[in-house]
Amino acid sequence: MPNQVPFRTSNPVRSTPGLKPKHQDYFNELKTDFNGRCGYCNSFDQRRNNDFEVDHYVPRRVLSTIRHNDYFNLVYSCKSCNRSKSGKWPSNDEMIHLVGNTGFVDPADPNYSSHFIRYDFGEIYWVTPNGKWMYEELSLFHDQHAVSWMLEKIRMAIEEARQKKTAQPTNPIVNDALIALFEIQETYLDKLFNV
Ligand SMILES: [Zn+2]
Repeated sequence: MPNQVPFRTSNPVRSTPGLKPKHQDYFNELKTDFNGRCGYCNSFDQRRNNDFEVDHYVPRRVLSTIRHNDYFNLVYSCKSCNRSKSGKWPSNDEMIHLVGNTGFVDPADPNYSSHFIRYDFGEIYWVTPNGKWMYEELSLFHDQHAVSWMLEKIRMAIEEARQKKTAQPTNPIVNDALIALFEIQETYLDKLFNV
């Protein structure tokens, strides 16, 4: 049985930037407030900005009083979660986000993470009935979430090796380790983004 690790170690907290014309205009604020992580799957945005998007928590088709550019309704999201979530919503009311066990919890709600756990190879799993619904609707079973999690581990290992290289610049073992880690990282990045 694999070990369990917390779904996330820090919760996103939305700031209060002034009103901007388009929801996409908040990309940088969301990136900061969501700690560079997808609100839904907690994947780290470690490659290109265009792998991440600005999602509407309450989808646009349901909005009545909430404006499309209201910051409190926006989520920093990876493409996979944004596409999977799409216009899904459990009611026709922007204020009703949960019907029974069906519906989405706002990722900026600290309780969001209580619906999921992660195994130590990066796979996400649900721990509540509402978590099961979100897991399926957000396609959190996709391999890319585990791959992204492993990539972050590799990134941290590279950073550690870089620090060792700075301390011991001519050590061949450190150099070989760094080269090997770079190759693994590139392989995973290709697997993750060229599918
Ligand atoms: Zn995601």
